[in-house]
Amino acid sequence: MTHDPRFDTVIAVDCSSGNDRGPRPTADAIWTCIARAGQAQTPVYHRNRALAEAYLIDTLADELAAGRRTLAAFDLCFAYPSGFAQALTGHADPLALWDWFAARVQDAPKSNNRFALAGQINARFPGTGPFWFNGLKSDIPDLPRTKADYGDHGLPEFRGADMAAKGAQSPFKLGGVGAVGGQVIMGLPTLSRLRARFGADIAVWPFQPADRAITLAETYFSLLPAALAAEAHDIKDAAQTALYARSFSALPPAQMARCLDVPASDEGWVLGVGSEDILAAAQLTPPPLRNDCFAMPQGAHWTPVETALAHLRDRLSPVTATQTIPLVKAAGRILAAAVAATRSHPPHANAAVDGYAFAGPLPAGPHTLPLHPGRAAAGVPFDGTVPPGHALRILTGANIPDGTDTVVLQEDVSANATHIALHGPLKQRANARRAGEDMMAGDAVLPAGRRLTAADLATLAACGTGQVSVRATLRVGVLSTGDELRDPGTPATDGQIYDANRAMLLADVAGWGHTPVDLGRAPDDRDKLRTILTGAATRCDAILTSGGASAGDEDHVSALLATTGSFALWRIAVKPGRPLAMGLWDDTPVFGLPGNPVAAQVCALIFAHPALAVLAGADWPARQSFTVPAAFAKSKKPGRREYLRARITDGAAEVFPSEGSGRVSGLSWATGLVELPDDAADITPGTPVTYLPFTGFA
Ligand code: AMP
Ligand code: MG
Repeated sequence: MTHDPRFDTVIAVDCSSGNDRGPRPTADAIWTCIARAGQAQTPVYHRNRALAEAYLIDTLADELAAGRRTLAAFDLCFAYPSGFAQALTGHADPLALWDWFAARVQDAPKSNNRFALAGQINARFPGTGPFWFNGLKSDIPDLPRTKADYGDHGLPEFRGADMAAKGAQSPFKLGGVGAVGGQVIMGLPTLSRLRARFGADIAVWPFQPADRAITLAETYFSLLPAALAAEAHDIKDAAQTALYARSFSALPPAQMARCLDVPASDEGWVLGVGSEDILAAAQLTPPPLRNDCFAMPQGAHWTPVETALAHLRDRLSPVTATQTIPLVKAAGRILAAAVAATRSHPPHANAAVDGYAFAGPLPAGPHTLPLHPGRAAAGVPFDGTVPPGHALRILTGANIPDGTDTVVLQEDVSANATHIALHGPLKQRANARRAGEDMMAGDAVLPAGRRLTAADLATLAACGTGQVSVRATLRVGVLSTGDELRDPGTPATDGQIYDANRAMLLADVAGWGHTPVDLGRAPDDRDKLRTILTGAATRCDAILTSGGASAGDEDHVSALLATTGSFALWRIAVKPGRPLAMGLWDDTPVFGLPGNPVAAQVCALIFAHPALAVLAGADWPARQSFTVPAAFAKSKKPGRREYLRARITDGAAEVFPSEGSGRVSGLSWATGLVELPDDAADITPGTPVTYLPFTGFA
């Protein structure tokens, strides 16, 4: 059967069999969530089925009117095991069964007849069942309370898809842990009415080809491992709708086509069963950046540096997938999810020194305490209670034994085989670490977006974390453009220059913790550049180009990005710097840096460095700056923020004698940049200036 796998909108629906849940959002109500282009909206709460149905009708009507193809995915069995529909309605068609239920189910906000109806259905079948479980106080004829004596009704308990989906339940089970039977009876009438309302605009997958404006499909909200932590909603049902709406919506058409391609059967199928791998991958891959993420109001004025930075911070988002790796491999990686302490650190009060434990405090003056036999060592706790007034030998890291709370340092004690002598005073709990004094079980330890340091690994290990969810490393392509460029170490004429930017930017990228991808050089030739960018977009998460980024005849990076609809030429009030060319090439963000190496490096540090951090899933990097006295004089005009190559000598910032931005050697001379404010400034030796060390960008 041929399906059209392109959906503009996905709406995920979590059903429920229960009564009205009241106005306050709770679990076991109905939740829906809309996603478009891989971005989920906030889940919507519906206190009862009647309201949910009205909302669905409105939403589907809006999508239809807007010309958006919509997939409505319900966590609801669309059919029963083979033979049931035929036995009940006289037709094998499961859609006839929907209408059969619609005619018989009574659903009021406070009560419904699902158990009674199930009993009436059972009465038509031999043996016991097929429905079982009665959730009501009163007995219902023909509806067994438990599964005992169940059988001989002539139907399979499960559908093929239920058996293929891990953990799926029988639609005949009306209650108990994980049961879905009740919500199926209560949900099918709504589906029947949606079909009646939207007629030929609606297709029911997989019974009908998914080639109409609206497709209804059954899914199962436990198909994916519950990586729900990433969904910002504390009610699981709500989080699930967001997760599945987002995941289905993020699937490229070819992958959605694979999900839709299932064998024909009157039992239907569960969307995603058999394609869990691609659904899981979609779940973990963030949606692409929006086409307008670089759009900047274009005016006569130059954009201040802070405005440009705020724009990058607000409009960019992580583009890398999430993966779980062992803690020991996680240095330098970026946490994709916050980590909470799995247990307290220390887990039990323990000794901070080698010495003797007893019950404190001790008043001032000399004391002699009898020694209790045995000892407490790290990993070998003392098994017993130390009697009042006695002391026990204890070693650093040992659990504080019962009956004691205070430790005296062994160097402060004279001891023989039976007693210790010491001087007070000693405060209660001296030299003892409290349980959980460092971290308490459940405490938030590190937030998502954190780039893990060596120390972080120790912190996470100490509170029991063996595996962490991190972002895949950002792959950053670096491309130089210009007909005049040659590779260093090869012959070049006087009209040619060596490509200085590529080695520098590749090293920058590696130093920032990303994976550099060398894209080589591109000539000033639009077709060749187009081919290179297209290839690069398939293997890079972001691309830095240098050269060709202004608006001139040979500025082919700008010219090509301008054809994508995502292009923006940022005229930033910064010196050195030419316009920055920003855009998406096949969804991959491209930062077109100036060709001039000094400008390329300054723009890379000031703009690309934080932007790439966000794309990589890290926090916006905090600026590392110091205020130091100037060792130079300069009168600066208002309008543009300036960055001077600088280094610190005797505590003061001196700047490279030439501001000429072609002087690459000045970058090597410098250890950082002096940042002069947007406004006018009159700097004389001793004036405080802002110094940004290059090491602060690593
Ligand atoms: P463009 O931005 O392409 O107009 O280039 C501005 C200046 O930077 C020109 O003088 C270029 O020759 C120079 N330039 C461009 N790319 C590089 C590079 N990769 N290495 C050194 N200089 C470059
Ligand atoms: Mg050029």
